Parts: sequence; structure tokens; C-alpha cells
Amino acid sequence: MTKRPNLVRRTGFPESVSRAVVTPLQPSVVYASPDIDTLHAQYEGRATGYTYGREGHPNADVLAQKIDAMEGGEGGIILGSGMAAVSATLMGLLSAGDHIVGGNQLYGRSLRMLNQDLPRFGITTTLADPTDAQAFADAIRPETKLILIEAVSNPTLRVADMEGITKLAKERGLILVVDNTFTTPVGYPAYAEGADVVIHSVTKLMAGHSDVTLGYVLARDAGNSKAIYDTAVTFGFTPSPYECWLAERGLYTFDLRFDRAQETAIKLADFLATHPAVAQVLYPGRADHPDHARAQTVLNGMWGNMVSFKLRGGEDEANRLVRAAPQLAFAPTLGDVGTTLSHPASSSHRGLTPEGRAALGITDGFFRVSVGIEPWDVLQADFEQGLSAV
Ligand SMILES: *Cc1c(COP(=O)(O)O)cnc(C)c1O
Repeated sequence: MTKRPNLVRRTGFPESVSRAVVTPLQPSVVYASPDIDTLHAQYEGRATGYTYGREGHPNADVLAQKIDAMEGGEGGIILGSGMAAVSATLMGLLSAGDHIVGGNQLYGRSLRMLNQDLPRFGITTTLADPTDAQAFADAIRPETKLILIEAVSNPTLRVADMEGITKLAKERGLILVVDNTFTTPVGYPAYAEGADVVIHSVTKLMAGHSDVTLGYVLARDAGNSKAIYDTAVTFGFTPSPYECWLAERGLYTFDLRFDRAQETAIKLADFLATHPAVAQVLYPGRADHPDHARAQTVLNGMWGNMVSFKLRGGEDEANRLVRAAPQLAFAPTLGDVGTTLSHPASSSHRGLTPEGRAALGITDGFFRVSVGIEPWDVLQADFEQGLSAV
């Protein structure tokens, strides 16, 4: 019998005097240290290096550094989804008995966590209107520890009083957590503007191609950062190296995608505003937006890629639009290269009563558009086709 080679031994890559241009994908979960002394040094922070994938890996760190640069901070943490980022933050920083003041139009799952999940662990929340800093001040209690807000709300695109709430958090010694997914650091540089903790769902505009779920957290205070990191590692909110690699690839074109999508969103908002089937357009860049004046300082001309509008009709008319324009993906997500259309009354806000939706201004003919990077004439034709069926 011939002697078989040891196929289990990993030999690594061949030597090369030239280097790979693209970041290598490193899926290894385990890392072998040369000896016990080195392992001690790694755990005690005297030597850098990886030990086990749940505790960190190079593709996550490469991605974190890119997003750190976008926010202007250091030491961001990558997690398996945007909700993992929200979970690690709230579970890492809060204990039973603590109280949160949260925005009343947060991302649906964040609201569910505040209203239904955290109370099981003794953490309670009061929701308030983030366009009104006084409403936040009024909601603070002695046991309040943290404020959670988004700069631009979903789906009505209301712009929060970021300056007022940031000041309030500082004065009252509260941790200000900003979920900056919708705006991105280009639209609102949350960390530079004073947020203590910044969260992103990297799944959306940052990765940009609807093929990964990832999250990111950046905490200013080293103790907070460690608490969030340890929670993520303990609870297992691990990001996959492959998804980190894809998201890094997505970020190569972030600036191009953002600028193109925003340019088209401005055109789409103006186009919809003149269409006879449309009752109202909500876009922070338009003078008729209820928070346009505040948007000019908060968003600084970076109005973003999200446009909402209300048809004059209700669900029947909304259905006709969706059916007549199948090229516009009817999908409740945002930030994809392709334009997507969502209908909050039947998706993100279906759990509310009709009165609850009406209070937020969400009618049965309400649509939220995440504008992609298609050429404007193509998109205009798609919307014309859809709206002509209404
Ligand atoms: C999508 C989203 C999340 C959750 O992110 P996932 O990656 O889907 O878990 C959180 N906050 C906001 C504002 C979002 O849009």
C-alpha cells in the first residue's frame, strides 16, 4: 500500500513577493498560538492576535475600522445583525431596574424590544416624540439611564431634535444611543455630534446589496465599549467572516451609491409631488416637509435616499401601484442598490391599530421608497407605469 500524504495538515498560502489587492477572506474560527507564554500575552493584551472566532476575527476588524473612519471614532464592534447591535448595547449597558427613554418611531423590532422583551428583564421604557426635546426631558425619571433615538424616523421621515436631545443627555448624565442606520454618517455624523453610542444596521445602505445581515456599535467610553463587547461575545452575536468581507466590498462603493441614490431621490420626490395620484410627499429636502428647517442643520443638505408618499386613495389603489410596477421590488427593506417599495400599513406598522397609524400619519395609501442607483429615466418610467394604474 502506498503511503498517503497528511491531507489534514494546512500548509497555508504559497509565498508571494506581490500582495493580494483584495482583503483576504479568513474564515478560520480557531487560531493556534506558538506557546503558552504567547497565549497569556494575548489574553492580557500585551500581544495582538486572535484566539477564537466568536471573540473576534480579522474580517470583522477590517470592516469595523472602515465604519470607524466614517463615524470618526475608534474601536467599533461588528455583530451578526443590526438587532444584535441594539441587543448588545441595551443588554450590555443596562440592568434590572433601569429605565430608557426611547423615540416613539424607532425601528419596529427595537420598539418591540423596548416594549415587550426588556420588561421581562426588569428594564422599562417610556417613549417620546424625538422632534420635541421637552417631551424627552419630561419622560426622564430618577432611574433613567439611557436614551435611544434615530435621527430620521421610519417611515414618515421626521427629523429628531438631535441638538436638543444631545444637550439634554449631557446635562442629565444619560447615555445617548443613536441608531444611525437611516441617515448613515454622511447624512448625520452621530459620533462627531456627541452621541455616546452609535449603532448601525450594516445590512442596509452600508453593505448595500441585500446579501448580508450585520450590525455595528461604537461606544465612546471604554468601559461601555467593553461591556457591549463582552455581552456580544457571551450571548453569541458573532458576525460571519464572509459577510464582513462582503460588507467591506460594499463599502468600496458607498460614496458613489449614496450620492447617486440621493440625487435620484430628490428628483423622485419632486416628480411625485406633481403627480395627480399623490396626495403628499415626505422628503426632508423639500421645503414642504414639516421638519425642513431642522433638517437643514441636522442633515446639512444630505437628505438621503428615502422618500415617502401618500396616494390619494387607500389600499386598493396601493395594491394597483404595486401590481403595475413589478420592477420596483415590493420589499420592506432599505438601502439596496435596487429601488424598493414598502407599504408600512401592511408590513412594519401592521401591528398598530388604524388609529395608531393615523396618529403617525400612515394611511393605507402610504408608501416608503428606498431609492437605489438605477438611472433616473428608468425609475421615472417605473413610477409612471405604477401610478397610471392608480
Ligand atoms: C434594519 C434596521 C435595524 C435592524 O437591522 P438588522 O440588520 O435587520 O437586524 C435596526 N435599526 C434600523 C433603523 C433599521 O433600519
